[in-house]
Amino acid sequence: MPSSVAAFAAAAADTPLAPLAIERREVGPQDVAIDILWCGVCHSDLHYARNEWGRTVYPAVPGHEIVGRVREVGSGVKRHKPGDLVGVGCMVDSCRTCEPCTEGEEQFCAHQIGTYGGVEKGTQRQTFGGYSRSVVVDEHFVLRIPAGLDPAKAAPLLCAGITTYSPLRHWGVGPGKKVGVVGLGGLGHMGVKLAHAMGAEVVVFTTSPSKFEEARKLGADSAILSTDPAQMKAHNNSFHFILNTVSAAHNLDHYVRLLRRNGTMCLVGAPAEPHKGPGAWLLLGGRRSVAGSPIGGIRETQEMLDFCAEHDVTPETEVIAMGDINAAYERMLRNDVRYRFVIDMSTLG
Ligand code: NAP
Ligand code: ZN
Ligand code: ZN
Repeated sequence: MPSSVAAFAAAAADTPLAPLAIERREVGPQDVAIDILWCGVCHSDLHYARNEWGRTVYPAVPGHEIVGRVREVGSGVKRHKPGDLVGVGCMVDSCRTCEPCTEGEEQFCAHQIGTYGGVEKGTQRQTFGGYSRSVVVDEHFVLRIPAGLDPAKAAPLLCAGITTYSPLRHWGVGPGKKVGVVGLGGLGHMGVKLAHAMGAEVVVFTTSPSKFEEARKLGADSAILSTDPAQMKAHNNSFHFILNTVSAAHNLDHYVRLLRRNGTMCLVGAPAEPHKGPGAWLLLGGRRSVAGSPIGGIRETQEMLDFCAEHDVTPETEVIAMGDINAAYERMLRNDVRYRFVIDMSTLG
């Protein structure tokens, strides 16, 4: 039987999130039913709830940094059992047969199903995210939370963690590499911690002077006020890799000129408006690249969770109650989050 569960939803782009009862599908043979304990608050939740990408289906239940406990499993489930601590990120299914899927990069599957705003296989109903009491997910898309990771702090790893880990690995970040991280928010601060743990020299670019000291505590070797041209110019032609996590449109050329020969800037931020740049001369002058990267595959997400447990890399979090979500969105827009809100789902009521 499908079950009715409590959730928090946006009814329209310009209304605050409010309680809503939603349906979760019956537990199928390959399904895992999860009671949600913690859910991180990603800036993508805000973009989506407010229809900033122009494709929101209402009512919208955001939340894709989910940690919970397995309540029930289907008859064919092998990877998880009741009582396990598990995680769910941005995807809940994919086609399983295309080239990206068979290579473990489900994030590139054309038929990938998002944790929210997707269309559920079988029921054909829209998917709802983690701002809810429970969720039913195919076992392939359910991650194991390693022992030793604080469950509340594991939640942001399911999006902010993997979205930064994957490009850092893909572009070979490690010892001897000078790495920039643009924007010190939820993604950015994980980028700093991960790049530092991988052994790179890390430089933070921030618009918030108040984050300078904190950047060093997070593992950065130095921090730069990105609005100061003199501080920026001092780093021209020096970066092997720059991870750009900014949630708003800006001039990319300010960063492209900081890349050394063959350097790459990877965009992970997903603003509603297009960026200015990159100019052709800056790119061809140093054979520089501007790239992009979405989340990461399931195999790599598990690898990232294990890496974080092994290297003691966890986000800085502020626990909030479900009812605080609208105020949290406003604070996020003021760059006033240090550095990830996590909802205590026991407060859902
Ligand atoms: P966040 O916590 O709000 O952090 C964004 C940071 O960007 C802010 O803390 C701020 O850093 C900087 N920033 C904001 N507005 C700016 C502006 N107008 N000019 C310059 N810098 C500005 O957001 P998040 O959760 O980390 O997400 C960041 C972006 O990544 C969002 O667009 C989100 O949708 C996207 N995202 C993409 C993926 C993916 O798969 N690629 C996954 C998750 C999220 P400072 O205060 O340091 O300047
Ligand atoms: Zn996210
Ligand atoms: Zn596929």
